[in-house]
Amino acid sequence: MADKRDYYEVLGVSKNASDAEIKKAYRSMAKKYHPDVNPGDADAEAKFKEVNEAYAVLSDADKKSQYDRFGHSAFEQGGQGSYGGFGADFGDLGDIFGSIFGGGFGFGGARQSKNAPMRGEDVLVRVSITFEEAAFGVKKDISYHKVQKCPECSGSGAAKGTTAETCSACNGTGQKRVTQRIGGMAFQSTATCDACRGNGKIIKKPCGNCRSTGFIKVNKTLSVNIPAGIDDGERIALRSQGCDGKNGGPAGDLIIQISVKDHAYFEREGVNVFCEVPITVSDAVLGAEIEVPTLDGNQKFIIPEGTQTGTQFVVKQKGIPYVNSQNRRGDLYFTVVVEIPKGLTEKQKDAMRSFAEACNDSVYVKKKSFFKKIFDRDKK
Ligand SMILES: [Zn+2]
Ligand SMILES: [Zn+2]
Repeated sequence: MADKRDYYEVLGVSKNASDAEIKKAYRSMAKKYHPDVNPGDADAEAKFKEVNEAYAVLSDADKKSQYDRFGHSAFEQGGQGSYGGFGADFGDLGDIFGSIFGGGFGFGGARQSKNAPMRGEDVLVRVSITFEEAAFGVKKDISYHKVQKCPECSGSGAAKGTTAETCSACNGTGQKRVTQRIGGMAFQSTATCDACRGNGKIIKKPCGNCRSTGFIKVNKTLSVNIPAGIDDGERIALRSQGCDGKNGGPAGDLIIQISVKDHAYFEREGVNVFCEVPITVSDAVLGAEIEVPTLDGNQKFIIPEGTQTGTQFVVKQKGIPYVNSQNRRGDLYFTVVVEIPKGLTEKQKDAMRSFAEACNDSVYVKKKSFFKKIFDRDKK
């Protein structure tokens, strides 16, 4: 991917080109490198794909702004992580090809012909990972189904050793001009070519492997690096790993939707992790060094004398790593819950009683002020 050309450079426009300029540049490039104009020219086909890919991004406001900010890494694995480019809109492409190759005359307007390039479909896969895997990243083998060019006929649909012939009735456009006479006037419109049923090509000996569709369904397994810090519901897009495109159109993407399993005692909000830690009455009263669980194992933490139940403490940098950041992490917040001992022996209860006798109101600040308020109210 390192040698991938800049999309603006591919289309030969400046970084601040307007939408119209981008569209215009795309039109002329696409026309120049279209496979129908350059049959059998692999270099032109590669250029055509490159041009389509560049236009797919630069013609979409969201993708364009992501590309402007992050470059190619915006759409690559381990780059910007997930992006919202689900179901890229190629409607515009159809329009453009309609008007370049024979469509758009008279009635009927521009219609996408069957041999216009079409982007392959995206494939969505849901992957379930553990809390720790989400925090620290994980490599997963992901299996999915996709539609791929038939290897027997390289997508032509014609049996091995034969080629699909360009339809002579329509010169490969898949469309024919129809002249209609209404009153004394002649109107021209376009219709699907009958000879090739709009495919632009005629297959004499069909490929048995794909029943001459040119495509087969395959199962693919990819080893995918799920980045540290990913959260439940987020998506990763793997460019061009989805279904193959048609007529030289680009492949779709593989979209991985992450679902993170619940943890036994941690909860997560963004990059911060939360948990509750039970402590004893004596630890709360006297202060103590306690063990606090973190994602990296237990850690010692000193709670002060007189810690109240429900008090929240923070351990810095022990939360979830930020996506694509080497060492920035969120924090761990833990809330102490004072556990009241139950099932005491007589001896233990006696100790508690003598503790209670030794105490007076002055050590219970809250209780003292609460009852003072009630007392003051009753006096009024
Ligand atoms: Zn085939
Ligand atoms: Zn035809």
